[in-house]
Amino acid sequence: MCIFCKILNNEIPSSKIYEDDFCIAILDISQATKGHTLIISKKHFSNIYEIEDEVLSHIHVIAKKIALMLKKTYSDIKGFNIIQNNEPKAGQTVMHYHVHVIPRYENDDLKIESVDHSDLYDLKAIQKEIKKSI
Ligand code: 5GP
Ligand code: ZN
Repeated sequence: MCIFCKILNNEIPSSKIYEDDFCIAILDISQATKGHTLIISKKHFSNIYEIEDEVLSHIHVIAKKIALMLKKTYSDIKGFNIIQNNEPKAGQTVMHYHVHVIPRYENDDLKIESVDHSDLYDLKAIQKEIKKSI
């Protein structure tokens, strides 16, 4: 059984801040920033490829609810990163669908960087390639 299923089964303790029929929200043990929360589906789905559409949509509505809850709790929150990783290459370490809600503060030291590789790729060519798969 995966670690999040164990948390859902109360075999491992967690700091739960929200629960409904489809998901729970717990504080991430790593606390990338204060209030870093994970929204976890109650049913085990490994990733975005597997998760049922209804649960997926619901979890993202709850991400909004949690962000607003955290913002109400900590007035110094200046923004949020909502992150969801799929497969180890993308940083997924727990293979049970979850969404990170990460509050951002003025002087936090969290780095989520974007890079500009626009010189390497031709948008029109990529668009054509992807459209072939639809
Ligand atoms: P991922 O890297 O798969 O997107 O995120 C997994 C997250 O789960 C990590 O941020 C990690 O800190 C968190 N995590 C792993 N084990 C536990 C645990 O036992 N309890 C809690 N609350 N968080 C955990
Ligand atoms: Zn699981």
